[in-house]
Amino acid sequence: MLKVTKAMIEDVVSQICGADAVQIVLDILGKVNVSEFIIAEDLGLDIRELRRRIYKLWEAGFVYFKRKKDKKRGWYIYYWTFIPSRVLFLYRDLRKKRLEMLKERLEKEENNNFYICPNGCVRLDFSRAVEFDFKCPECGTLLVPNDNTRTIEHLKEEIKKLEQEIREFDKKIKEEEKLSKKKLKSSKKEPEAKKTGSVEKKRKKPQKKKTVKVKSSKKKVSKKKRKTRKAVKKKRKTKK
Ligand SMILES: [Zn+2]
Repeated sequence: MLKVTKAMIEDVVSQICGADAVQIVLDILGKVNVSEFIIAEDLGLDIRELRRRIYKLWEAGFVYFKRKKDKKRGWYIYYWTFIPSRVLFLYRDLRKKRLEMLKERLEKEENNNFYICPNGCVRLDFSRAVEFDFKCPECGTLLVPNDNTRTIEHLKEEIKKLEQEIREFDKKIKEEEKLSKKKLKSSKKEPEAKKTGSVEKKRKKPQKKKTVKVKSSKKKVSKKKRKTRKAVKKKRKTKK
């Protein structure tokens, strides 16, 4: 299985759900079906605050849940599990964006001549250098041509590494997705925590006790009693 590193989680989760959500993922990492109350306790959070944060994670597809009804209180408790493949998938996207950026940069480096200030103030491409009459806009020193052969080599190396990394990711993510699809099937319904306000009221309402059956059985008993009384009377009459 492909491993999700703490650095990947911090990188991807904080970008999408905020730094607040990272600690939740780290808390349930490697565990299965963790009770929302346990997570809240672990992190020292109010249960409503935890639900708010974890809902963001659910919306982004980082976690799935199972819910079970608390028989004593009559409300649902949510049990959460982290989905590593989602982080890997998004991490790969970030790497792809970086790759695109590097490719654009490489193209620019290959198709332009650059000029730099000997004092290290600026680096300008040809058209920009012409605009400033080949003088540094910061300190006025004459600009000199910049040999970017090493920059280009460096960019090419980095692009090669990234492409390799992304290829490996794609391969492993496909394997991972097959596994998590099965898990996802069990959590397609939305958690109630989304509908703020109404949830708390619903949860606090105690269940009505079922009294109907008891009443009807009492009637039956009394009918039986009447019948037996009549039968006794009949017996008395026949004896006479
Ligand atoms: Zn300068």
